[in-house]
Amino acid sequence: LEAKEEFSHKTLAMDVMRPRRSDPPLTVITQDSMTVEDVETIINETTYSGYPVVVSRESQRLVGFVLRRDLIISIENARKKQDGIVSTSIIYFTDHSPPLPPSSPSMLKLRSILDLSPFTVTDQTPMEIVVDIFRKLGLRQCLVTHNGKLLGIITKKDVLKHIAQLANQDPDSILFN
Ligand code: ADP
Repeated sequence: LEAKEEFSHKTLAMDVMRPRRSDPPLTVITQDSMTVEDVETIINETTYSGYPVVVSRESQRLVGFVLRRDLIISIENARKKQDGIVSTSIIYFTDHSPPLPPSSPSMLKLRSILDLSPFTVTDQTPMEIVVDIFRKLGLRQCLVTHNGKLLGIITKKDVLKHIAQLANQDPDSILFN
């Protein structure tokens, strides 16, 4: 097979990542503008294992990745043990707290639970390479970007489903691909 021809048939990260074209957008957390209540709503209304943290919804610049279970534990602890943490408290993952009026409630710093360098690939990365990275690095999930902007996520289960689909393909079509 010509290497070039083979490439044109390849499944790319963008074909496997979530959300799909028709899906609602990725559920993300902003780095310094959501309240405890906002994040609790996300935790209650979704079941994802984790959430990308972005600079802002408009920018979609990736800051890191936070696990659902770490968020639940940290917020529960803060509500119990940290003075002044209420539903309207701002959660921030940045080094310094965002500037807010003096009358605002105490803020909750959660930088310590943020994975600051989650694995990322671009949307054009062939799935063959993504599968290899998942295997070799033992990843649970990988984020997908385009021009530095967050676009989607691929979990280990998404990769396993993709592999299963390839295996179920009609042998003839594999032969001629
Ligand atoms: P798993 O793939 O093991 O079930 P999750 O529950 O985290 O893990 O993800 C379920 C599905 O939702 C996957 O297809 C994944 O790509 C997608 N997904 C994961 N995290 C998010 C998120 N924050 N926003 C939108 N979709 C997500």
